[in-house]
Amino acid sequence: MYDPSDSRWIKNCIQIMPVSKHVLLTFDDGPSRQLIPILNILKEKRVRAMFFWNTKLLYKERPWQRVIREGHIIATHCHSHKKLDNLTKEQQYKQIKTSITILEDITRIKVKYFRPPYGRFNEDTMVILRDLNVLPVMWDISSCDWINKEAPENIICNVISHISDGSIILLHELKQTVTILPRLIDEIRKQGFHFTLL
Ligand SMILES: [Zn+2]
Repeated sequence: MYDPSDSRWIKNCIQIMPVSKHVLLTFDDGPSRQLIPILNILKEKRVRAMFFWNTKLLYKERPWQRVIREGHIIATHCHSHKKLDNLTKEQQYKQIKTSITILEDITRIKVKYFRPPYGRFNEDTMVILRDLNVLPVMWDISSCDWINKEAPENIICNVISHISDGSIILLHELKQTVTILPRLIDEIRKQGFHFTLL
């Protein structure tokens, strides 16, 4: 399980670059049907973000070309959304390697970043990530968007009340997240923060 004090994981941009008053938006569990509305909002607001995808969901109609063209980063969240710490090392390797191969085959861009489903991993995961040369990325602010379907306003509050220099913000490709995304971006800017990428 993820221990926030485990420094092997990037959970704030400051760990790898000197940034002040910048934060990073990350969207997990796509590519989903919400991807297009998310891209539309990010484009309108001139924000670039990171997407952690399950390559099992990478259907033909998902606009991965647009994601890249508009300056976002596509990273891996495994092939399917399994708890890695329940899998053997070989099964874990297959999950991660397959997703990297699929992404690199279609985009022709090296996959540099990885986030495990449910934030769950074990020491086998760390060895595999080192072997495959991908950097482990977690977050330091969870928006808890997945449990706020009925009260999307809480998503904004969860982020704004914890925001700090270099924060990596965990969001998902969900309908309630789309609903509040324009306001979330505005509120982050109102706090004096800009958006960055790794
Ligand atoms: Zn996930």
